[in-house]
Amino acid sequence: MLQKINQINFAKQSIGTFPTPIYHLPRLSDYLDGPNIYIKRDDLTGLALGGNKTRKLEYILGDAINQGADTLITAGASQSNHCRQTAAAAAKLGLECHLILGGKKPQNPNGNLLLNQLLGSHIHFTGDNRKGEDIPNLFKQLTKQGKKPYIVPYGGSNELGALAYVEAMIELQQQMNKLPIDNFSHIIFASSSGGTQAGLIVGQLLIRQQMEHNTHIIGIKIDKEQNGPLPFDQQIQALANTTAKKVRLGKAIGNTDIRLNRDYTGDGYGILSHIERNAIKLCAELEGILLDPVYTGRAMGGLIDMINLGKFDNNDNVLFWHTGGSPALFAYADQLI
Ligand SMILES: *Cc1c(COP(=O)(O)O)cnc(C)c1O
Repeated sequence: MLQKINQINFAKQSIGTFPTPIYHLPRLSDYLDGPNIYIKRDDLTGLALGGNKTRKLEYILGDAINQGADTLITAGASQSNHCRQTAAAAAKLGLECHLILGGKKPQNPNGNLLLNQLLGSHIHFTGDNRKGEDIPNLFKQLTKQGKKPYIVPYGGSNELGALAYVEAMIELQQQMNKLPIDNFSHIIFASSSGGTQAGLIVGQLLIRQQMEHNTHIIGIKIDKEQNGPLPFDQQIQALANTTAKKVRLGKAIGNTDIRLNRDYTGDGYGILSHIERNAIKLCAELEGILLDPVYTGRAMGGLIDMINLGKFDNNDNVLFWHTGGSPALFAYADQLI
């Protein structure tokens, strides 16, 4: 199918369930005695336990199908949510799926690793290489076998993936009519490969051409180490600019448009501290909402800390954008309770 954004048609495969719900979290807001907290449930995108990669894959796989691909290749950490959603999307569209995962083959796969197997993907374990270093070799091998492989970028973060979060921002704008508030003062979420943040920023600027809203879009930086040649904020800015061109925004994204909180990277990617544990426990016990140990636990932990530090006004309306990941809870069971 084709999806119109800013009067331009983009190829898209419909693989998720949208719009995702949005609602107030009264018990968490009361408990923290700060701003009103709302949540956007992109953990409920409907594809094999959901998450933000479902949105991105709709556009990336729209392109893959147009190019005649019959096989997908992608890479990630061993508990990658992106890889699990790619495996599920491949199953749904009848494509072969190869996952290049960091780490070693475990004796008892659990969490996302278990799901990857159930979803019928071919898994290649590559030790310390969790960012797709081994993709070119596999691409050659599969091509030699007569297949038409398509590389899904790390974290689904290219301009096609980001396009999905431009659309998500338009979806949010349409949902605002049903909420008792006019606008969010802040949108807070986990930011790791940057596609979600780049898309939300471009989406906001696109919407703002029609409405005067000034929402602070703040990514909570998840990774301690730098991924790629550029510092993370510059990486997001570059991706936002290629995405802006794609939707003919007619305006460049400046470095002040990139708001990133770097305070919660802790001891590194996937390493839990009391920040994540406390956030996971509070959301579960007060709202019945499951976060995840790597991304949303850290992002919500950051939001809670920022509230405790007095960074918000009690009249503020803050949207926490839940990006998924809860299957990884099972893989971290021994560290959670
Ligand atoms: C991938 C992922 C993110 C980060 O999104 P990016 O677009 O890569 O920045 C956040 N939360 C979850 C659960 C994820 O799987």
